[in-house]
Amino acid sequence: MRPKLFVAALVLLFSSWMLYNLLFWGRPVPFNVQTLQRSDRNGDGVIDTWQLDTSQDGQTDIVEIDTDGDGRIDRLQLGHPKIEVLDVSGRKTEAARRKLAVCLDGVPYEDMAELWDQGYFREFSRPGKLISAFPSLSDVALTELLHTEKVPGYENLYFDVRQNAIAGGAASTVSKVRMPYLDALNYDEPGIFKGLAYLLPLRIYHADLGRFRKRYAASQRPAYVAHICSTDSICHVLSREQFLKLMLELDRLLREIYIQQKGQLDFVVFSDHGNSHVTNRRIDLDRFLVQHGFQVESSIRSEKSVVIPAFGLVGALPVYCQAQNTGRLARLLTNHEAVDFTTYLEGDSIQIVSAAGTAAITAKDFGELLRYAPVDGDPLHLKSVMRRMVEQDQLNAEGFASKSNWFAATAGHEYADAVNALYHGVTNHVSNRANLLASLKDGYHYGSPFFDRLVTMRSTHGNLRSTSMTGFFMCNGPMPHAILPARELLKDWQSANSIENAR
Ligand SMILES: [Zn+2]
Repeated sequence: MRPKLFVAALVLLFSSWMLYNLLFWGRPVPFNVQTLQRSDRNGDGVIDTWQLDTSQDGQTDIVEIDTDGDGRIDRLQLGHPKIEVLDVSGRKTEAARRKLAVCLDGVPYEDMAELWDQGYFREFSRPGKLISAFPSLSDVALTELLHTEKVPGYENLYFDVRQNAIAGGAASTVSKVRMPYLDALNYDEPGIFKGLAYLLPLRIYHADLGRFRKRYAASQRPAYVAHICSTDSICHVLSREQFLKLMLELDRLLREIYIQQKGQLDFVVFSDHGNSHVTNRRIDLDRFLVQHGFQVESSIRSEKSVVIPAFGLVGALPVYCQAQNTGRLARLLTNHEAVDFTTYLEGDSIQIVSAAGTAAITAKDFGELLRYAPVDGDPLHLKSVMRRMVEQDQLNAEGFASKSNWFAATAGHEYADAVNALYHGVTNHVSNRANLLASLKDGYHYGSPFFDRLVTMRSTHGNLRSTSMTGFFMCNGPMPHAILPARELLKDWQSANSIENAR
């Protein structure tokens, strides 16, 4: 071929590839499994049978049946080549089964429970509540869920205390600042798309689902952990109705994987945190702080300096300052209408400050026993809970209770699992710990002014309110718990994965 012709052919090939991508990238995933009919086989008024077509000929190939009326499919009837009936009740699971854990970032418990009640996701038990970490942000929550080493900061963009400079950011997800939890994931959205999430949420969501489906199908791993990041982005910018509608694509995706494995896998699906579903706006903290003698800057230059990395549009923010200003700033910020409370470490005790008063959390026995002591007022509204705990003998004479007793007593509280969450939130999770953390009220966020100009935020998370703190979990077998702390969910999985990674 002559060189000119060769170059022309190359250009043509490249431009048609570009055009193809432009037109088809991020289109809805074409699923192979279609639900033809849902019916009530035993006539008790509840859907118990799902007829599926897997060969796109409009004929039933597989029937999913709930035989015991608990709402979860426990029998598969396969039509080809001959009729085969499989027990998928998950009651007797074998050690050799493949394991799949899928995190749907930011999907609230209430949403998944509602979809399940409508008859979706029935390969799984009815969802339970999974209580997140504080701040209810993915980097922190996934670190806790996957039991990995500390992340550098609370979000992708963070403050490097030693370098006294802002580091990370959208570009760094590509160059990959070390986020230890990423190493524990077998699938995650490429960093570049995370940065674009506020711009093209829908296309990125579809591309994410399609990419995960392809990668998982190509994998032979006996244990696989996937993180679907884009569910959180669509939740941020869409109404709840629009969001629920898009979640039906995940119902189909998960069913397709389940059917491909003939239900013979240990399948757990969960979210790392919830979402507020409350339209929220950015607060002008910078001006507020200037009015009170501080200056928001990108490094700590003087005693006036305050550094707040502004990234995702979220409901909690880390504040860095000179140590002697911590308490003063914590009190000052609670005068802002958007701030619910602030919290910081003073010596060994965690201080909580809000317009409703102050309190302290202290730990004993390496954090096994925790105490919440109101100093004046009751910023976390826990006094009545504690009265019940006293009646049930769960608080000792000094006011300490075990981690699990605090969890059991407060997991459904307006500030979910507050005592555990604040203790770990202030002392753990990140290597560049903030001087103080501010938890905002629903309806407000802080973050990048650039992102803020791009979108109307219909939901966010990050704060300690139960909507943000309450994710879901569900599995394709019986569920021993209705409510769990995020740190408990994958405890056994980690050993399975580390054995495999060591191979
Ligand atoms: Zn988010």
